[in-house]
Amino acid sequence: MLGKTHLAVGIAASMAVLQPVTLSQLAIGISAATVGAVISDIDVDTSISSRGAGKVAGVYMTLIFIAVVVEWLFHVGIVSLIQKNIIWMRVATGIALFMSICAFGKMQPHRSFMHSFSALLILSGSVALICPIAVPYFSIAFISHILTDLLNYKKVRLFYPLQGGVCFKMCHAKGLVNSVLFIAGTVIIIVEMVMYIYYKIF
Ligand SMILES: [Zn+2]
Repeated sequence: MLGKTHLAVGIAASMAVLQPVTLSQLAIGISAATVGAVISDIDVDTSISSRGAGKVAGVYMTLIFIAVVVEWLFHVGIVSLIQKNIIWMRVATGIALFMSICAFGKMQPHRSFMHSFSALLILSGSVALICPIAVPYFSIAFISHILTDLLNYKKVRLFYPLQGGVCFKMCHAKGLVNSVLFIAGTVIIIVEMVMYIYYKIF
């Protein structure tokens, strides 16, 4: 399926299942579902997630570089601050783990590791370190990506590192089903947003 279809289906599925109540839940939910919906296709160079990941990694590495230089030159206490703050340590560990897994996944063949239960478990674990309430939104969107890819003709290695894969050979990635899923996902998101606003006002 196309990236925009995975996005629409992933966000719609997370919103429909988890029904966020507060604005922070809605914001965290949509953000986590957005990443969960497209991160699997980091194993395709031209995908939304692959291009986005390159930029995020660049910004993250630049920030780390700046922090290291500032700490080295001015001894502002960044290292001891992170060491003393257990939450910062946890979040930094989660981000580093998430990025390492994505870097590994990017080097694997399409629809192998990044489309498997192994990746779902490890990535969800690293999201739990970064922001625990984001985990269900991320996981549901990730699973929706794998389920929609299963409809295509290319096998999905669900049980990586085991060999062999699964596909239902029901439709092509850019065909009618892709368009129907995109429209259905978009409509569900709009309905969910309208319901959220309605319940907030009345
Ligand atoms: Zn995919």
